[in-house]
Amino acid sequence: MDTILVVNAGSSSVKFQIFAVEGEGRLQRQLKGQMDGIGSRPRMRASGSDGAPLADRAYPIEAVVDVPAAMAVAGSWLRDELNINPVAVGHRVVHGGPDHASPVLIDPAIVSRLERYAPLAPLHQPHNLAPIKSLLANFPTMPQVACFDTAFHRDHDPLADHYAIPHQLYAEGVRRYGFHGLSYEYVAKRLPQVAPEVAAGRVIVAHLGSGASMCAMRAGRSVESTMGFTALDGLAMGTRPGQIDPGVVLYLLTEKGMSAPKVQDFLYRDCGLKGLSGVSNDMRELEASADPHAAFAIDYFVYRIGLNAGMLAAAMAGLDGFVFTAGIGENSNSIRARICERLAWLGIMIDPVENARHATRISRSDSRIPVYVMPTDEELMIARHTLTLLTNQSSPNSRRERMS
Ligand code: ADP
Repeated sequence: MDTILVVNAGSSSVKFQIFAVEGEGRLQRQLKGQMDGIGSRPRMRASGSDGAPLADRAYPIEAVVDVPAAMAVAGSWLRDELNINPVAVGHRVVHGGPDHASPVLIDPAIVSRLERYAPLAPLHQPHNLAPIKSLLANFPTMPQVACFDTAFHRDHDPLADHYAIPHQLYAEGVRRYGFHGLSYEYVAKRLPQVAPEVAAGRVIVAHLGSGASMCAMRAGRSVESTMGFTALDGLAMGTRPGQIDPGVVLYLLTEKGMSAPKVQDFLYRDCGLKGLSGVSNDMRELEASADPHAAFAIDYFVYRIGLNAGMLAAAMAGLDGFVFTAGIGENSNSIRARICERLAWLGIMIDPVENARHATRISRSDSRIPVYVMPTDEELMIARHTLTLLTNQSSPNSRRERMS
């Protein structure tokens, strides 16, 4: 049976999943895996679609020094031990720049173009591209597809896409891109099955994970996002501050004498919930902590979500539905309850019983705005896009086009 490998590579971990292609293009998840501790304490864990463990192995540090090495180890495990030989690989790539409003089939020219966006996502883009490059070198005929976190937001109105800076910078690509697009796209596809009338209207989707953002969607299309040029903007996150006056950055550079790389590291790694609490970047640990700074960090997280929800509702001139997704959004009923209480003025009334049991709809039946919890599935989105491009590539029409 044909299979598709989905890869989501970060700086110290690579997540991978295998999907089987069944009849009529249906995809069935077969396996989930993750190599953690790359370059420090490498460990690969994988489980089948039923959650049954398939592997849990530690490796010496020199066996998995970087992301390409992690891919090589995981790849040979899949091939040699499980006899899985994927027909294509789909990758999560954070930044597609101004040109990519949809996924693309990778070739060397595309890779060079995507490398230019590394400064726009310094902690993600180089790691996303590393396995693409190593697969291109080692398996040059293997079709690879890049799926972008920015793509879903690319048809924003120019008003939402600009900063108030000279146009030359916009032309160079200094724009408000927005991220977490694969997650929002999944929710946009799923919501019509759950609540078609709501999906056709104005919806805020809150993707609250380690990275966090919110998207304003009208009829399933993104019209505004809390994130901008980079994934630093908007909500407070695990280790990123979210919206911050650029004057603070100038202060760090001029008054504190921090170098630009130091400031970059500070903004990506030392702020947000971690910086505010001094306890952890992990919401579970903050919720369990008795430290008042942990409580303050949670208050701040919730407060900024409330502020930004007001902004997104204003962008759409109203609101018809609200969706929670990602690690915190899917799992923390207390954070969801606190956010909903803040949004009571918009017409949101939470149902505590439904919220506590993580129901799909967690608002009261008389709530003017219905509220949903929807587990996201970015990997399935990537597998679907990969299959679509693969099918188009091998269809008779596209073959004729390529020959002409
Ligand atoms: P990412 O994929 O961006 O790494 P996730 O979507 O997995 O992130 O979200 C991670 C966040 O979700 C962490 O802050 C984690 O603490 C939080 N989280 C996961 N489960 C729970 C839970 N049961 N209660 C509160 N927070 C949770």
